[in-house]
Amino acid sequence: MPLLLLDLDNTLVDRDAAFRFATTDLLATHGLPATDLDWVLELDASGYRPRGVVARGLLDRYPMLAPPLVQGFLDNGAADAVTLAASTRTALRHATALGWTPVIVTNGRVRQQEKKIQVSGLDREVAGWVISEGVGAAKPDAGIFARAAEVVGARLADGGWVVGDSARADIGGAQAIGYPSVWLPLSAGSGRPSSSTNLRAPPTTCPPRSTWCWTTRASDEDQPPWIFSNGSRSSSPRGSSALDRLT
Ligand SMILES: [Mg+2]
Repeated sequence: MPLLLLDLDNTLVDRDAAFRFATTDLLATHGLPATDLDWVLELDASGYRPRGVVARGLLDRYPMLAPPLVQGFLDNGAADAVTLAASTRTALRHATALGWTPVIVTNGRVRQQEKKIQVSGLDREVAGWVISEGVGAAKPDAGIFARAAEVVGARLADGGWVVGDSARADIGGAQAIGYPSVWLPLSAGSGRPSSSTNLRAPPTTCPPRSTWCWTTRASDEDQPPWIFSNGSRSSSPRGSSALDRLT
């Protein structure tokens, strides 16, 4: 059965919305200016800035916060607030029913990423997951994708697709294993695929507001019957990331 190798943050779940929600709560709880929200979000850089740098920045600006509290916020704040959009859950079930094997492939720490998977309920919707810290390889390294296939008793040679928001980690990883991909430039850290990436315009069956939808090496025969969409970002933890079936 073909593999569906899915990124987690800002792909299956709207991690930025969850972090925004947690930050708003942190500022309110400790009597800090609500207008600092954008400053914290910029410091966070959609989770791509090293956590130690973010922690130092927060402690420098808010010396009244205890270091363990800041660490706890960075470890659990977004993880506690992630949600799985109903349309994403439905699409995952639909893909599974059609014979796809969905596997989460995510870079990050095991404790934090597994918490997101469990809090969102994704643990009940996918066949398995691999986390870079746990397997000793990170996207775009082909090794982590090979481990993803192994955890569901498959091989990369079985074929599949990669879906993710990071040009470097996800689309670069797809290129490393020779898989077609869907790129979702949904966060500040999405970057741009390299000029050598054979991106093409969305299929004509994409919804009108589909500027986020790009595929590589796609053909009508081998493309999954749906794509992700994220037409507008949400300010609540109930993110707008969604898998919408193409009809
Ligand atoms: Mg991501």
